Amino acid sequence: MRAIPSIVYCSKCGDIYRRIAWNNRGKKYTVWRCCTRVTHGPDACHARTIKEEDLQEAVVEVINQLISESSELKEIIKENIEKVITGDESGQIEEIDKEMLKVQEELLKVANAKKDYTELADRVEELRNEKEKILLDLAEEKNEQSRLIELEEFLDNQELEIENYDEELVRKLVDKIVVYEEKLKVIFKSGLEVEI
Ligand SMILES: [Zn+2]
Repeated sequence: MRAIPSIVYCSKCGDIYRRIAWNNRGKKYTVWRCCTRVTHGPDACHARTIKEEDLQEAVVEVINQLISESSELKEIIKENIEKVITGDESGQIEEIDKEMLKVQEELLKVANAKKDYTELADRVEELRNEKEKILLDLAEEKNEQSRLIELEEFLDNQELEIENYDEELVRKLVDKIVVYEEKLKVIFKSGLEVEI
C-alpha cells in the first residue's frame, strides 16, 4: 500500500491516513495513522492506529466478498450501464440547438429594428447554460459507465478469490478506504460501498 497513502481517510477529521514505521518494544510494524493525529496529537483527532496487515486483510476480504457475490453484482452493474446508455441527452441537445437558432434569428430582427431584445438575450444565455449542463452530465455519465465496465470486466475475469493483497488491483478498483472506530468502509470507483 506504499504508493497510495491518499486513498485511506480518517472518518473523524477527514484527513488522510499515512503509512508509518512503528517500533513497539523492539518489534517493528508498519501502521497507518491519521495525519492530523500524527502532526497535532490526540487532542486534535483521536482516530485509531491501524496495522497495515489488518488494513490489507480487510481490503482483500471485501474484494473477495464481491467476487463471491459477483453474479448478483453483475446484474446490478448491467442495469446501471444500460440506464446510462439509454439516456436521451442527444435528443435534448438537438431540441436546444433548434430553439437557440430560432431565438437568435428573432433577436437579430428585434435588434435591427432597434427594439429591446433583453429578454431574447436572456433566453439565449439560458439555453446555452442548459446545453452545457447536459454536456457535463453526459461526460460524468460516460465516466461512471467506464468505471462500471471496469468492475464488470474484473468480475468476469476473476472467478477465484484472491489470496494476497494486490496493490495494482486495489488501485484499479478502490476509490477510498475510510477508517472508523469499529469498521472500515471501502468505497469502490464504481460507487459501490462495502463496510467491514
Ligand atoms: Zn483524523
